[in-house]
Amino acid sequence: MEAFFIPLYRLIQTHESWLMERILHYAKLHGYTVYTSTLLEAWRVSICGLSEPILEALQQQSEIRSPEPDANYEQDSIAAFGVMEAQRHRSRGVTIELFLGLLKYYRQSYLDLVTHVGEFSAAEAAEYQLLLHRCFDRIELGLCHEWISLSEEAKIQELQAENRHVVNEKNRYLTLFESLQTPVFLLDTQNRVLNLNQAAAITFTDYATSGGFYYDLERGQPLNLPWLQDVITILEPPIDRVPSPAHPAVHIEPGPQSAPNPSQAGRAPHPLPSVSACPFHAPRTVHHAAPPSPSSSPSPSPDPSPSPSPSSSPSPSPDPQQLAQPQQVLEKVLRTNQGDRWFELRIQQMLDVSGKFTGTVIICTNIEARKRDELRLRQLSQACEQSPAAILITDASGHITYVNPKFETVTGYTLQDIQGESPRILKSGHVSPETYKTLWATIKSGRIWRGELQNRKKNGDLFWEYASISPILDEESNITHFMAVKEDITDRKKAEDLLNYQASYDSLTALPNRTFILKLLRQALLQSQYEHQTLAVLCLDLDHFKTLNETLGHNSGDQLLIAVAKRIRDCLEPNDLLGRLGGDEFLVVLPQVHHTSQVSELAQNLTTALEAPFQLPGHDTEWFLSTSIGISLAPDHGTQVNTLLRHADTALYQAKHNGRNTWTYFRADMTEVAQRRQSIGQQLRYALEREEMYLMYQPVMTLHTGQVAGGEALLRWQHPSLGLVPPDEFIEVAEETTLILQLGEWVLDQAAVEVKHWQNPQMPPRWIAVNLSPRQFHSTQILAHLQQLLQDHALNPTCLELEITERLLMDDVPEAVELLHTLHHWGFPLALDDFGTGYSSLSYCKRFPFTTLKIDKSFISDLPQDLESAALTRAIIAMAHELGLTVVAEGIETQEQLDFLRREGCDFGQGYYFAPPLMATEFRRYCKQEPSAP
Ligand code: C2E
Ligand code: MG
Ligand code: MG
Repeated sequence: MEAFFIPLYRLIQTHESWLMERILHYAKLHGYTVYTSTLLEAWRVSICGLSEPILEALQQQSEIRSPEPDANYEQDSIAAFGVMEAQRHRSRGVTIELFLGLLKYYRQSYLDLVTHVGEFSAAEAAEYQLLLHRCFDRIELGLCHEWISLSEEAKIQELQAENRHVVNEKNRYLTLFESLQTPVFLLDTQNRVLNLNQAAAITFTDYATSGGFYYDLERGQPLNLPWLQDVITILEPPIDRVPSPAHPAVHIEPGPQSAPNPSQAGRAPHPLPSVSACPFHAPRTVHHAAPPSPSSSPSPSPDPSPSPSPSSSPSPSPDPQQLAQPQQVLEKVLRTNQGDRWFELRIQQMLDVSGKFTGTVIICTNIEARKRDELRLRQLSQACEQSPAAILITDASGHITYVNPKFETVTGYTLQDIQGESPRILKSGHVSPETYKTLWATIKSGRIWRGELQNRKKNGDLFWEYASISPILDEESNITHFMAVKEDITDRKKAEDLLNYQASYDSLTALPNRTFILKLLRQALLQSQYEHQTLAVLCLDLDHFKTLNETLGHNSGDQLLIAVAKRIRDCLEPNDLLGRLGGDEFLVVLPQVHHTSQVSELAQNLTTALEAPFQLPGHDTEWFLSTSIGISLAPDHGTQVNTLLRHADTALYQAKHNGRNTWTYFRADMTEVAQRRQSIGQQLRYALEREEMYLMYQPVMTLHTGQVAGGEALLRWQHPSLGLVPPDEFIEVAEETTLILQLGEWVLDQAAVEVKHWQNPQMPPRWIAVNLSPRQFHSTQILAHLQQLLQDHALNPTCLELEITERLLMDDVPEAVELLHTLHHWGFPLALDDFGTGYSSLSYCKRFPFTTLKIDKSFISDLPQDLESAALTRAIIAMAHELGLTVVAEGIETQEQLDFLRREGCDFGQGYYFAPPLMATEFRRYCKQEPSAP
């Protein structure tokens, strides 16, 4: 017959009588004998709530019998013992441990009953077992309270003095243990979990969801906490000590019933923890709880009793040296119900009074916040160390406490060098005291100062930094430190300086550029107005620099400009201003003119200085330059920068027009010329497409026969508003742009058509001469064009004479020389035009393949009266003939001139005397006329 015991009182009290009813019902149904403890008489009143038949059944069978020995219960002999003892000593009073033994037995009995009652489904059985566990947990805990809360008299009867004290202590420990917010595990000598407090259960087990009891433990299953197993495996082996009068650790005296069973010592871990080993289930005498050892850091260790209990054995002050085993402290990430968290595990072995190892307590303090802080600190510290910005930290009084590696790299100072120093050590002396004043005022008021500072490195070098300096405050907002985060901006500053410089200065000559010199002019102008002074503006332009530049190549051209700038500077007083307006244009400003002669003198000096030959590196030959200068005066010619500049430019144009290499003051009537020139520049580009251009032909006569020998094609531009613009006016403008190439090709095309008209050998003229600009010789484009012309018109090249001025030869363009030879080789006659206006060097005629030399009309106009002109003309003709050249005299206007030239053997002549330039039809008509009478 099976027997089981029912602690009815608690079941009923906890409103689980329905279970009770069902158990009784099934027990009776299956013929079980139901026992109930007579101890429960005390609570009989509680069962009044039971139905009458159950009450009867209980009263009839309220007798406790000793259960049959059963293999199932063998291991729980303590419980069985408890049942018998409860029966036997009932009249003498029953101790709590006996009762606990009973309960243990009851628990197992019920569990078995539920398991064995076939009426329950597996789910129901599991549910009831869960309920049973919950009941018994509560019963056990409740029992402790109930037991202690018995009347003093009852206690005196039931408890021996020592046991009472133990229960009290027990209860205090229990309460303390359970109320601790820190998870605590108690291990037995075999490192099996003996107990864990509520905090541990909540944190690490399914306590919270399973209805509030230590489910696994009570079911006899070891706690499934892998981390705990890990910790256990690394636990220090226990050290037993000889009992010492000074008990260093928690000493627990085993109760009489809980003496360890030697037969169990070597056994495999029991699924149920030994009741006797658990401080909650087996009463022990707590003699003393040692204060924390000095070597162990303060921790929320579950020190159960800070003061010695009244019954503790006399113990002198504990000796920390004699701790059973030094407390082990581990930091570990543990898997909790909330996820993985950092814990500090304090592991302490427990010894009994005899120094025997009784188990281990593990206190788990959540250090997640500390770890987070540590991590943050570590990250911050790493960020500082690895920061690409230099960091300097001072204490509140401004003494350096930290600098990071970047700071050391930038400044050359190591932390050792400047620790304790003031950041003043970095001062360069270039930062204004006001800046420092503002800086300190800002940071001392708790705000952040940001700005640029120029400091000095350890090696004395200056450097720039952008600093962000902030105070560091403590919790009470007191400044504890200052932190400066600095970015080295030396490179940026240099780049800025360079940019500023580039924005203001010409990179080639290092002179102020256009923007800057005009700014300086504006300031000087204001100053001169304020002082009622005259100010002079001189615009300088190098003559024919463009051609020279293309000839020399740009590198040498640049060298030349640098040399020019230096020569100009050398002519100036320190207060005079000089800038490069661009290209070959310079601007000189005399801020204080006392007399205009001072300006003229300077202009002359400049002209002279620039006339002197230039020797360029890498060139054997000397180079000659000339300059034209236009001058305007303030306030006479204007009071605004733009006006003065425009007028100086007009005067410059006039100087150029006057033959270059000269200087001119602005005059009011120059403006008109300048405006016309500007209009020409604007209108010229449309002239060809609007068909405003045409050619005229001036006959060239054979002087000794008076017959037309050829003609010179002369370009004309008839503009609707500008009128007839002579070539002298627009050719130069066209030469300043590439328009001259277009115009030149157009002239060649037109002339070729005219030549074709005359190609009947019986008919004059023999050739048409075309003027070519030197710029047309700067590329081989002309060759291609002429070749095309020859092909398109099946031209005889001897009928197209090409006139070139001395200017081309003076420029000495190697390509041009080659081109001339090619053209000669192709059969084009080449004429040297305007001979006598340049260097008039006959050596050109020797070096270059000319066939004709044209004496400039300036020689002819003075003939024959001017003896010098006459002598020169005579010599030119003679020498040209010597060189095998035919000679053409230009600008023959009078009979005398003609006579002279004939006498001297000049071959051809052209001029108004014969005919002015004629329209093509007129020219043809003219050619068919009888030869003019000599
Ligand atoms: P040039 O080649 O020396 O042309 C002769 C200039 O003398 C022409 O002036 C002509 O009209 C002028 N002339 C002719 N007979 C007399 C005279 O008896 N007395 C005076 N005082 N002058 C006379 P134009 O047509 O004004 O041409 C001036 C210059 O313009 C030319 O000088 C030539 O260098 C340039 N030119 C004219 N047409 C062209 C052209 O198609 N291409 C280029 N590149 N230059 C041209
Ligand atoms: Mg000509
Ligand atoms: Mg000429």
